[in-house]
Amino acid sequence: MEIYRGIGVSPGLVIGTALVLDAEGVRIPARQIPPEKVSSELTRLNKALKAAAEESRAQQKSVELRLGKQLGSIFSAQSTFYDDPGLLTELHQLIHNERFTAEYAVTNVIRTYRRALEALGKDHFLSTKASDLLDVEKRILNQLLGADWEPLSNLKEPVIVLAHDISPSETATMDPTKVLAFATESGGKTSHTAIMAGALEIPAVVGLGKFLHDVAGGDTLIVDGTRGILIVDPDEEILEEYQGQVKVLSEQSGYWLAERDLPAVTLDGTRIELMGNIEFPSEAAHCIDRNADGVGLYRTEFLFAGHDTDPSEEEHYQAYVHVVQTLGPNKPVVIRTLDHGADKFPNHAEKISEERNPFLGLRSVRLCLRNLPMFKKQMRAILRASVQGDIRIMFPMVGTLLELRQCKMLLAEVREDLLEEGIPFKKDMPVGTMIEVPSAAIMADKLAKEVDFFSLGTNDLVQYTLAADRTNENVAGLYNPADPAVLRLIDSVVRAARTNNIGATVCGEMSGDPLFTQWLLGTGLRQLSVSPQNIPEIKKLIRRINLSDAEAMAEKALQLDTARDVTNYLREQKRRIQPDAID
Ligand code: PEP
Ligand code: MG
Repeated sequence: MEIYRGIGVSPGLVIGTALVLDAEGVRIPARQIPPEKVSSELTRLNKALKAAAEESRAQQKSVELRLGKQLGSIFSAQSTFYDDPGLLTELHQLIHNERFTAEYAVTNVIRTYRRALEALGKDHFLSTKASDLLDVEKRILNQLLGADWEPLSNLKEPVIVLAHDISPSETATMDPTKVLAFATESGGKTSHTAIMAGALEIPAVVGLGKFLHDVAGGDTLIVDGTRGILIVDPDEEILEEYQGQVKVLSEQSGYWLAERDLPAVTLDGTRIELMGNIEFPSEAAHCIDRNADGVGLYRTEFLFAGHDTDPSEEEHYQAYVHVVQTLGPNKPVVIRTLDHGADKFPNHAEKISEERNPFLGLRSVRLCLRNLPMFKKQMRAILRASVQGDIRIMFPMVGTLLELRQCKMLLAEVREDLLEEGIPFKKDMPVGTMIEVPSAAIMADKLAKEVDFFSLGTNDLVQYTLAADRTNENVAGLYNPADPAVLRLIDSVVRAARTNNIGATVCGEMSGDPLFTQWLLGTGLRQLSVSPQNIPEIKKLIRRINLSDAEAMAEKALQLDTARDVTNYLREQKRRIQPDAID
């Protein structure tokens, strides 16, 4: 038995049989051609490039139909590689000067780039482009060799796919009933492959490091996409333990289906609004599947997936209209303005240079306030879409009152522009701010007077409060939402919201972790926004909570000394109301 730890990019627990894809895909020998064949070889290459580009565009269309325009655009970005002048020159040189076959030239050039990108390390933003290059290479080779490079689209039996890397287009062709899960040696949280896995809800772990040499096709595997674990050839004890967990989870999902239409209401009859977090318009349907009360966080930076330029106002608008129309006129949709930078799409054109501390640098609303046309374009689209339903706007990473006021001033300017142009919009569209920087949490009483709602972004709030990078495994032990410092900040923000009579929600991962549900409600929160997949579990828990008990336990947890004390206490309290659950 071997246990590997990587990055869980799409949650779920699966036990199944391995299908191992060759670490490097097809191996191409370094064959040379006689001088008289050079010209026909170049023609063959050019034809293959053209056909590959066409195929990429066709896939863009089919992914657009299935998963929406944004995910499709990943392939439109890829299709620019096929006539990239730099790439063409290198390929032509290898064929013309060195007399290598077109296949070898393609493999040699693209793999060199791919390895260089991977060598940057999985935390580097460019490393995520490696899987796009894998797509490009396979697609051209497929044209040259006439091979079927889509083994994943024709599976007969359900399998767990293992590979060095899986390209976004391979992921897009996966049938979730046949590919139960996948695990890869390379890849990072924001790679297009990871994003695609999340949208298809296929459990996945990436960035596991070298493991393929230890696995054979047909081996039994356990993939835990929630915790980022791959277990190869588990021993009997572990297998039994995980089989038990899978059984409980599948019983739960049957139970959750039966509970789908029940409201998230506590034992004492208080209605809690349980909303979903989404990245893509197509995920709005996942919220409806779980009967969410709305979308509490739409992370719009993913509109940039596959783009190197800003989306147009129309692209913004269409995405927002899609979400609000999927949710219907009465369910709120909280659209967060662009939250670029640090680990999210850091290659955006506005980034001027590499920063030494990108998490403390020009990210999110700071970046937007430096690019007013881009910011206003997004605000226009949000306002225009607001007439279609209950849309609310929210600003991320606000650290000072002045920043919030600047955002609101721009929003007022955009409103005036629309008025002048006679374009309809909702005049009283609610405006909120995220509270995810400690300075904002400390100033919450002042900020509360200037917005309609707060949304606590605990992912960032935890990292900034504890000075522990949320993506750095070396300080993962310090990054802990159960730290009493974090709890105190959250508690004070919720109090400020209540005193000022404005809404408050939590949309960081903490709100989807059942360990914290009682505590969060105990502080006075009546709204949570979680990944759609977590909705049933959190709802089940809410329906077992007695608010006066939760209030007492929230008070008690605030008095504890360490994150460990808090975790133990919350675990104990959770077991009290849910003795049958897996911790
Ligand atoms: C957060 O920081 O908690 C949050 C919800 O935003 P993101 O994870 O997108 O930074
Ligand atoms: Mg954040």
